[in-house]
Amino acid sequence: MTYPKSFEELMECFKMLPGIGNKGAERMAYHMLDMDALSVQRFANAMIDFKKNIHHCKICGHICEGDTCEICQDPERDHSMICVVESPKDVFAMEKLKEYHGLYHVLGGTISIMDGITADDLNIDSLFKRINEQTKEVIIATNPTREGETTALYLAKLLDQMGVNVSRIANGLPVGSSLDYADDLTLLRSFEGRQKI
Ligand SMILES: [Zn+2]
Repeated sequence: MTYPKSFEELMECFKMLPGIGNKGAERMAYHMLDMDALSVQRFANAMIDFKKNIHHCKICGHICEGDTCEICQDPERDHSMICVVESPKDVFAMEKLKEYHGLYHVLGGTISIMDGITADDLNIDSLFKRINEQTKEVIIATNPTREGETTALYLAKLLDQMGVNVSRIANGLPVGSSLDYADDLTLLRSFEGRQKI
């Protein structure tokens, strides 16, 4: 016997989420069966509003509700420094440290030969366009994975040709890890120990 059509459809939707298999989707659908209509409505609205309102900042690629993010708009931030990260999660990890007061640039991934992701698929062009005489340092803070390192080398080479000071966060992070999973102290040391490349 199969579940009613709407039940099945909800399960199929849950299964689109990472880490959710048949069992998990089933459990969530049963849970939703017991939720009151108002809470379910709130749930559905939150997803629709999220998709409608959350955009990538036109300058740096971070997530925001308007055209540009709070960080890019903030005149108090040091606009002479740009920290390049893979994803918005990394911006939040860095911001938690309260140590860095410059700007960011979010690539939206890494160059990966295995997955066929090239520089053209990432938010890289806009990084080069942002570089001007005001730019004193670009810190490359991609994750210490093979793809993260490949991307860092690619960026460093091109930025160097543009005459920009480029640094790479130190090797304090375990190989294969990601910035947003690192504990604050490790990330802080890695950031403070960055080296010119
Ligand atoms: Zn921004």
